[in-house]
Amino acid sequence: MPHSSRLFATACLVALACAAGAARAAEGVDAAISAAMPKVVEWRRDFHQHPELGNRETRTSQIVAAQLKAMGLEVHTGIAHTGVVGVLRGGRPGPVIALRADMDALPVTERVDVPFKSTVTTEYRGEKVGVMHACGHDGHTAILMGAAQVLAGMSKDLPGTVVFMFQPAEEGAPEGEEGGAPLMLKEGVFRDYKPDAVVGLHLWAGLNAGTIGYRSGSLMAASDTFRLTVNGVQTHGSRPWGGVDPIVASAQILNGMQTIVSRQTDITRYPAVVTVGAIKGGIRFNIIPDSVEMMGTIRTFDAGVRDQTIERLRRTAENTAAASGATARLDILPGSNPVVINNPDLTRQLLPSLQRAAGSADKVVEIPFVTGAEDFAHFALEVPGVFFFVGSTPPGQDADQAPSNHSPLYFVDESSLEVGVRAMADAAVDYLNAPRH
Ligand SMILES: [Zn+2]
Ligand SMILES: [Zn+2]
Repeated sequence: MPHSSRLFATACLVALACAAGAARAAEGVDAAISAAMPKVVEWRRDFHQHPELGNRETRTSQIVAAQLKAMGLEVHTGIAHTGVVGVLRGGRPGPVIALRADMDALPVTERVDVPFKSTVTTEYRGEKVGVMHACGHDGHTAILMGAAQVLAGMSKDLPGTVVFMFQPAEEGAPEGEEGGAPLMLKEGVFRDYKPDAVVGLHLWAGLNAGTIGYRSGSLMAASDTFRLTVNGVQTHGSRPWGGVDPIVASAQILNGMQTIVSRQTDITRYPAVVTVGAIKGGIRFNIIPDSVEMMGTIRTFDAGVRDQTIERLRRTAENTAAASGATARLDILPGSNPVVINNPDLTRQLLPSLQRAAGSADKVVEIPFVTGAEDFAHFALEVPGVFFFVGSTPPGQDADQAPSNHSPLYFVDESSLEVGVRAMADAAVDYLNAPRH
């Protein structure tokens, strides 16, 4: 690889020869990735067998930090609890690109039959639960370590700096704790390392291994968790006129909120979802209770639509409740995520890198909006960002029918790991080498 890199540097003195030089440099990256893959697979299986919940990724982050140090990176630990940042300074001046992986697992009991299956259990909200890397974050961590190893091996020739961010608690921090991307930013990760761009990926059941999914602009939804409290006046079930019934008011609010998307949102621009997933009120057949509580989620793809949807929900709830003499209060709970927005220019710039990583242009597909949320959104609000999906369902299997991320049966075809390492390494090398104006 040093040989081809030297060729690259020399060839670039003659502008016309740059393309050939870049091709040879790419070959060097290819060889380094092939050499790194056995370790990447080993790391991922180890993380898979030893999953840790958000803000508790102590073992994982120790391994990450030790390996990054062994690669010669400058390593910072204890960021946002268990986060790790590795800094790789190239031999030449240039921009700074941040590559991000998340490390946390989920309270899911694994049902996949692999030799490195998780048998870890823990207590979660007072219940004993299994712990599983059911969202593929074990793969994300191993992929980014693999990319770090590849890029560390060619650091002398890199024009710029690569910041490897290993993030805790993407799935949300435990109740009462801060965590994830917002806490990393609050602690100054971007202030300290000043990236010009940020790139992240997600292993994805909805695509076959070998395929990459991308989308310019809005990709993943903003998610806002809400609590809606409807207050009436308690009375005997046989004398409803003696009080104010919050159950009937809640039923009307629930029906009324169906018109927020169907009648009040311009669905030709952005879709939206308003879901109530829990409703609780009353304790006995002949007591009309004082109050009803609903919990739900709002998913939107544009900051303006997000604000409007929240406001319309508030308006519908308050005014519908008022019609019967009840009151309603809408609370948006902590832990909300903004929209994941892929910067259109950066997406255009990195598309050829993703196509090379996947092996051909037709393996990189434009995908529809994803109503799931990702806290990568916070990073991409600060600097231009690109987030993409790496297919993880075995080739030949129907990806639409495959157990989704978060399922106890979520299965990662390990060939997807190499696509991920290639995508991260290629994106970083291409970004740093891109001509600047
Ligand atoms: Zn997840
Ligand atoms: Zn995830």
